[in-house]
Amino acid sequence: MAESKATFCRICEAGCGLIAEVADGRVTKLRPDEAHVVSRGYACVKGIRYTEVHASSDRVETPLKRVDGRFVAISWADALREIGERVRSIRTQHGDQSIGMYVGNPAAFSLPHPLFAQMFLASLGSRNLFTSGSQDCNNKFVVAEAMYGSALYQPVPDIDHMQCFIVLGANPAISHMSFMQLPRPVERLKAIEKRGGKVYLVNPRRTETAAQLGEHVFIRPDCDVFLLLSFARELFARGRVDPFVAKACEGVDELARIVEPWTSERTARVTGIAVATLDAMMDHYFAANGAALYCSTGVNQGKHGSLAYWLLNAINALSGNLDKRGGLLVPMAQTRAAKAVKSMSRGLTPIPSRIGGHAPVLGSYPAGILADEIETSGEGQLRAMFVSAGNPLLSCPNAQRLDGAFRKLELLVTIDLFRNETGNLADYVLPVTSFLEREDVPLSVNGFQPLPYLQHVDAVVAPRAETRDEWWIFVELARASASRIMGSRLLQWWLAASASGDRSWLPQIMRFSPRLMFHAVALAHKTTLGRVKAHPHGVLLAPHPPQTFIGKRVLRKDKKLNLAPPELVAHAENLALFYEEQTRARQGLLMIGQREKTSHNSWMHNVEAFVRGPRSTNYLTVHPDDARRLQVEPGQIASVTTKAGRICVPVRVSDEVMAGVVSLPHGWGHQRADGLSIARDTTGANANVLTPDGSDAVERLSGMAHLTGVEVEVQPWLDAREREAERDAEPLSAFFRAR
Ligand code: SF4
Repeated sequence: MAESKATFCRICEAGCGLIAEVADGRVTKLRPDEAHVVSRGYACVKGIRYTEVHASSDRVETPLKRVDGRFVAISWADALREIGERVRSIRTQHGDQSIGMYVGNPAAFSLPHPLFAQMFLASLGSRNLFTSGSQDCNNKFVVAEAMYGSALYQPVPDIDHMQCFIVLGANPAISHMSFMQLPRPVERLKAIEKRGGKVYLVNPRRTETAAQLGEHVFIRPDCDVFLLLSFARELFARGRVDPFVAKACEGVDELARIVEPWTSERTARVTGIAVATLDAMMDHYFAANGAALYCSTGVNQGKHGSLAYWLLNAINALSGNLDKRGGLLVPMAQTRAAKAVKSMSRGLTPIPSRIGGHAPVLGSYPAGILADEIETSGEGQLRAMFVSAGNPLLSCPNAQRLDGAFRKLELLVTIDLFRNETGNLADYVLPVTSFLEREDVPLSVNGFQPLPYLQHVDAVVAPRAETRDEWWIFVELARASASRIMGSRLLQWWLAASASGDRSWLPQIMRFSPRLMFHAVALAHKTTLGRVKAHPHGVLLAPHPPQTFIGKRVLRKDKKLNLAPPELVAHAENLALFYEEQTRARQGLLMIGQREKTSHNSWMHNVEAFVRGPRSTNYLTVHPDDARRLQVEPGQIASVTTKAGRICVPVRVSDEVMAGVVSLPHGWGHQRADGLSIARDTTGANANVLTPDGSDAVERLSGMAHLTGVEVEVQPWLDAREREAERDAEPLSAFFRAR
């Protein structure tokens, strides 16, 4: 029987409503949900094509074990028993910290997944958690904790009411933003202009967004912090400080002292932004009745992403735009979540990482030190890794080195839809459900909604073959490893009895189910799950109230917002040195990342339509002046080199990038992924072969990897003899095999 079922996309933060057409228990089509309360008939091509991910013949359907270099199917019972035995043995020999875990970005789009992953690792006594957050956003958590008293307080631009929006290092038309839910991005940004407002897109590349709206301003990579220093200086110089906000803040004078030397003339030298352009930008911002400065990965992945985000927040607050309709608002529900997290972590002292002494961010260490944690002998050396919904061998810096490190592990278990590049090295691959196979609420985007709503959806179809939800897998792994979730024998017993499904003697009504968590979410929003379920396309909640945050909900002493957190102030002292570094003459070009319409990190290249013909590779975009100087032509293969490694990739020549800058989409380089039958035939190269890792290469404050503004040498890939000589060299051999 054919039927239509409401669901929502869990690929990115937009959380677009989808309608799944289902016939005979199979999803035949996904289409945008016209009735969804926020996305209102919008979904991008990735969400609509998710059917091909879900239905792919490459999906892992049963647990796999690597035997003599080949993967063979085994039962869940055997897989769990064998993994459990090896975990127990490794813990006995090398201690609790020898077990680590990496959790990838898709986990953020399921409520039970990250929670149970973390609880499983903690049940083993290990704190060695690594996440993709240190590649894209941990600077934001660090700054929010320091300024507002909770990492969860991420002010949301009130996009539908503002008059001026300044976007740094983001490409909303393609990425749909992060830390901000924005379906229909182009329409909603254009609406600002229709209201007579102004949108600035500040980026070293003239993006697809800039082609459609706003005023684009080129900025040299990794120089946003200097633009923000001048912006903050001008805030004081023009007398635009809101006196009410200033009274509710600490550190106003200290901030004024730090930014004072950074005149627009001084920063123009390093940003490449003319003083008049910056002036005009500030004029619009300060004159607007409701404005926001916003940044994303292009800023976060720089060498000073935390300082940049701190200044950006300080400007938004002191100018009176924080806690204001048309400026930025802080959802009420975040206060309840922030208080809950605070009370759970009360009395716990964060323990720095073994390598480099990095403080954990939301319980996780920088993935940029993962290879060192595996390769450096001594107490706490990582010997076993669980990787859930991640592909660190493509996503983490210095990918080649990490590949070598992963090969030294005594045990590697991946938990995923596919056997990806990391899964290729695994001892066991455990299969999971797709998002169409499980019920959910869009909680992970809940704190980032300009237009708040709740939605609950049931699974659209039954789980495929032997796939399981992650919460189930982590409960069973804990049981097999003789550990207990939250150290509680009773809780572990209850969860394990619930996970037993049909074999459980526990009455259905007494079993754990993720639905219990969804009930709690609804209650936290002062409603019930029943009421939410009565609205399958989502139910709008009360708008975020203005003037309820500053001086009222800030989780610091006296509820004061801290504009000069000591750890950030201390790092700001390094900015003069960084300025010198950024203004010196360079031999190489500065590489930035790039999002693509048909790509999402490393996991959309196994969709045939997305990698057909010229789309079967990523391209290095080079400015025409640089192309002439380097003697590279469109379509020609260029060799791109850093201290970390070398890749070969075809060239695009375009003035959409600044002279001196090259851009390269990440997530490519699948030639060795024999579990991805379509992606392995693509010829793209992994940008992270070029990026640096190690304790000194990650940002000290947040552990963020340095993935933008990386200096690279670009050369034409020369003659046939050289090509021949390099045919057998890694990582080029994989590239050539695919050609
Ligand atoms: S914008 Fe994001 S959430 Fe919406 S359909 Fe595309 S990938 Fe899915």
